[in-house]
Amino acid sequence: MSFLPYGRQVIEDDDIAAVVEALRSDYLTTGPRVGEFEAALKHATGAKHAIACTNGTAALHLAARALNLGPGTVTVVPSITFLATANAVRLNGGDVVFADVDPASGLMRPRDLEAALDRCGHADAVFNVHLAGQCGDLAGIHAVARGRGLRIVEDACHAIGTEHRYGRIGDNRFSDLTCFSFHPVKTIAMGEGGAVTTNDPALADIVARDRTHGMTREPSAFVERAQAFDGAGTANPWYYEMEVPGLNYRIPDVLCALGTSQLKKLDRFAARRRDLVARYDAELANLAPHVKKLKRTACTPAWHLYIALIDFEALGLERAAVMRTLAGKGIGTQVHYIPLHRQPYWRDMDPNVTLPGADDYYRRTLSLPLFPSMADADPARVIAALKSALGL
Ligand SMILES: *Cc1c(COP(=O)(O)O)cnc(C)c1O
Repeated sequence: MSFLPYGRQVIEDDDIAAVVEALRSDYLTTGPRVGEFEAALKHATGAKHAIACTNGTAALHLAARALNLGPGTVTVVPSITFLATANAVRLNGGDVVFADVDPASGLMRPRDLEAALDRCGHADAVFNVHLAGQCGDLAGIHAVARGRGLRIVEDACHAIGTEHRYGRIGDNRFSDLTCFSFHPVKTIAMGEGGAVTTNDPALADIVARDRTHGMTREPSAFVERAQAFDGAGTANPWYYEMEVPGLNYRIPDVLCALGTSQLKKLDRFAARRRDLVARYDAELANLAPHVKKLKRTACTPAWHLYIALIDFEALGLERAAVMRTLAGKGIGTQVHYIPLHRQPYWRDMDPNVTLPGADDYYRRTLSLPLFPSMADADPARVIAALKSALGL
């Protein structure tokens, strides 16, 4: 039996052909495939604007910059997420305050956001995280955030393809900007890859500008007219202009070829992930009450992770030992995530914060293998191995 990692990419012959074709073309960095990928992403999410970039971390950083979340600002981030969500704000100079989560789903609730806001008094933005591919109460978060004058960013690195009640994640119905990752363990693989979507043309311009050194080649945006235009009033052919220093977060054409090819499979991959999750759920039900599935929310997720919540304490077991036992049986597992407020950097900044929901979730969480090319029988095999590892 081959080793089952907790997640992995599915690359098919047409993906490889698309990459080879890109390699044979004139462009390795920015070429026509970047725009094609962005158009496909707009279609997949329903957003008005999509800007592809190097990875999900870059996407989050671009979002923080676009909203001016710099020194003197405060952004609320749920404690259960990957490091990058809070780092994006911090690297831009902004302060971060952590919100608690529902211990049964790992998702921030409107009341968790409210509690975080009551703690910090004032905040400028919230980064909401769609853990495992589920989204929480988007309308409720939106109502609290807008009521307190907050901008909203969705960290949808887990949630490409997820449908909320009224549309698709990435349509920004309840947010200003949405960030995606196309790291190979996520639902769509580009190697490294990311994107920001928004419906606000001004924000889209800022994200696109910051992605490429903060520069523009758009004549209507030039302010140094004497430098920019020739005697006839035509823009000089070499000319570009910079108002704000930016970054090089460009994504290569070659990877966009892969991204566009993979996006065509999004619905198929999402359906397969849902099918595997249903198989897991059926098997996991036999391990109650010590093992529970993640609480389901009102959405149709393109599941990124299959998370089991296991009462290791009641079972008298250490999670590490269970993970090693499973690894010995060819089953990879992972913990998503160590609460950010428990990281030394953040702990030093705010030693008194208590987030019992996040801590409770963290004590019990374990991600089991989930990727579209798993066999139908794999979930039953994984749960049988888990059952025996837990002594149930
Ligand atoms: C993967 C991930 C990121 C970072 O994405 P990269 O593409 O790896 O930079 C950020 N936030 C969450 C929730 C993620 O899962």
